[in-house]
Amino acid sequence: MDMQNVYDIIIIGAGPAGLTSALYAGRARMKTLLIEKEKDGGQIVITNEIENYPGAEEEESGPSLIARMTKQVEKFGADRVFDTIVDVELEGKVKHLKGNKGDYYAKTVIIATGASPRPIGCPGEKEFTGKGVSYCATCDANFFEDFEVFVVGGGDSAVEEAMYLTKFARKVTLIHRRAELRAAKSIQEKAFKNPKMDFMWNSTVEEIRGDGVVNSMIIKDTVTGETREVVADEDDGTFGIFVFIGFDPKSQLFEGKVEMKNRYIVTDQNMHTNVPGVFAAGDVIVKNLRQVVTACGDGAIAATEAQRYVEEMED
Ligand code: NAP
Repeated sequence: MDMQNVYDIIIIGAGPAGLTSALYAGRARMKTLLIEKEKDGGQIVITNEIENYPGAEEEESGPSLIARMTKQVEKFGADRVFDTIVDVELEGKVKHLKGNKGDYYAKTVIIATGASPRPIGCPGEKEFTGKGVSYCATCDANFFEDFEVFVVGGGDSAVEEAMYLTKFARKVTLIHRRAELRAAKSIQEKAFKNPKMDFMWNSTVEEIRGDGVVNSMIIKDTVTGETREVVADEDDGTFGIFVFIGFDPKSQLFEGKVEMKNRYIVTDQNMHTNVPGVFAAGDVIVKNLRQVVTACGDGAIAATEAQRYVEEMED
């Protein structure tokens, strides 16, 4: 192996975690490659407004924030390639990543592949994402001030996010496919006491309809199999549908190669995985708060630790 062709750091994924890693690695003059399969930004490019990222501009959108992050990365000289990695060999001093377009070699790898909210998978869901359908209450609750909102799911996320939404919405109805919540009892108790919360049991969303924005949905009773249409209040003209039926970490490529818990990659507080020279950052790792700001923090730490690893290797 000609070490000339070996990167110090390869980062997989150009969301906030990966872009921040690339920024830090570039500034540290590491020979860095950032690999992205589709387009920069990860999950936040589906977000219309970002209010909770420190220093965000007025009316900051996911794409506008990501565009500035990308520009900043370019300034510090990380190489970029758009390719899908299909296989990885992470053991040993030189890691090998196999892409559709070519092979990449590095002393360290930062996995920043992210996660995606699990979709319902019904007609209209994709079309109305960002137009009434949301997967992030922290991001989008504000848009539903005094409107009616529906939350899909019955786990901790759904119930906690539903309660958060009651601070904004006039009424929040949880739609759950069974008659019993999965969420922890303590969380359930609070939800049942909340006067703004309502529950639609044994129900699933079969179709989301609208005209520019969501204005109705088809609900199926999972016991009787009957369907009915729920239509927006006439004065409102629309309502929100927040989906919390779990997340899917994008970690498949690393299965059996790095330690995972429920398909999330396990790291220590310095973003080290159990494999020397392999780090992970952002939504793909085990953690509680999945936000842009925490992804960036992880990315900065991972790059700094990768730099330290490379320098120690060379001693
Ligand atoms: P989750 O625990 O996997 O719950 C997913 C919920 O969505 C379940 O109620 C499930 O219904 C429902 N669901 C799944 N697929 C569905 C589908 N296709 N259609 C309709 N409903 C569907 O996911 P989560 O709530 O995101 O939580 C993930 C993990 O994070 C959990 O371990 C949770 O404990 C943890 N968490 C903890 C906290 C906290 O401690 N404060 C907060 C958030 C998350 P069924 O119940 O019928 O399966």
